[in-house]
Amino acid sequence: MRIRGMLVAAAALALTAALVGCGGTAGSAVSSSAGASSQPAQASSATAQSQGIDYLALVNKLNPLPEGWEDALETVHFTNSVGDDVEVEKKAYDAYLELKADLEKEGVHVDLDSARRSVADQQRIMDEFTKEYGADYAKKTVAQPGYSEHHTGLALDLYLVVDGKDVVENEDMMGYPEIWAKIHAKLAEHGFILRYLDGDEHITGYGYEPWHIRYLDDVAIAKDIMEQGITFEEYKAGKVLPEVSYDYGDSKRYTRAELTEAAIQVKCDFAAWEGCELHSLRYAGDECDTQENVDWLNSIDKGAGYTHVAEFLTDFHSPLTEKKPSAWNLDTEYTDYQWWLGRTEDGSWQVVTSGY
Ligand SMILES: [Zn+2]
Repeated sequence: MRIRGMLVAAAALALTAALVGCGGTAGSAVSSSAGASSQPAQASSATAQSQGIDYLALVNKLNPLPEGWEDALETVHFTNSVGDDVEVEKKAYDAYLELKADLEKEGVHVDLDSARRSVADQQRIMDEFTKEYGADYAKKTVAQPGYSEHHTGLALDLYLVVDGKDVVENEDMMGYPEIWAKIHAKLAEHGFILRYLDGDEHITGYGYEPWHIRYLDDVAIAKDIMEQGITFEEYKAGKVLPEVSYDYGDSKRYTRAELTEAAIQVKCDFAAWEGCELHSLRYAGDECDTQENVDWLNSIDKGAGYTHVAEFLTDFHSPLTEKKPSAWNLDTEYTDYQWWLGRTEDGSWQVVTSGY
């Protein structure tokens, strides 16, 4: 996920998908590094001595950066191969250098695209988007300040150097699954895990990102997580969630890939339902894509310009115990809960509404 320190107006729209991971399906990452303040190449460490940080802290869309984190954090700055300043937590940086050297022995070359982003920087992006596009759009597309793992300094976005060329765009990087497999196999022994797993969007809240890794400063725990193939959320909860069952039916309107993209959007939204467990997800059928439904979604989400509609049905289990008041009865299986998505001309999906 390529994020620059400062928002560049021209790049704003291209940036949106990268900001949230689940915010859309058509956008790509920022290609311009203009606006990022480049720092000198020498490493310099920031912030004062402190009681330290919790390397196993969970930061996601439900769990904010722990209090006092930014004061306790010690970081290193360096300049990557494309000339951008990158800031990383100190121990994570040392571990990254070992990982990088280890991979080079196998002919795999990586560099670091982005790592730490302060809460203030994220707030600045949110403010820019709110000013430019309105609060609704900003909320939908920009990760909430305080709730990004990149705040920790322990989350790193890698990019590839293939045949001497930098491969930095998300879509381009997706074209090298065999290189990512080699990288992922080496993560745990250096204390890293892969964070946003393919198919687990309903748990992490993010689409698959082979480049986004997280430092845990504990090889045994990292190995445990990577060997089990579970998310960090599941590790922290001490509970492995059951597989979701899918039924995409027999659509004449959409390809399987298009429906899979739509399902990912549903799952990303579902991830915000704390304590709920997704069991099944089904495409409701082509008969949902009527002009009446298109008009209905456009009346809810004014200005979105949807041209097609898809409806999905989900079964899920509500929380066993109540952490926060929620709309659900406790410990109950809900079935055929509806999700309505709009699709714009560029092929991207957006969950517009859900309910019974
Ligand atoms: Zn990332």
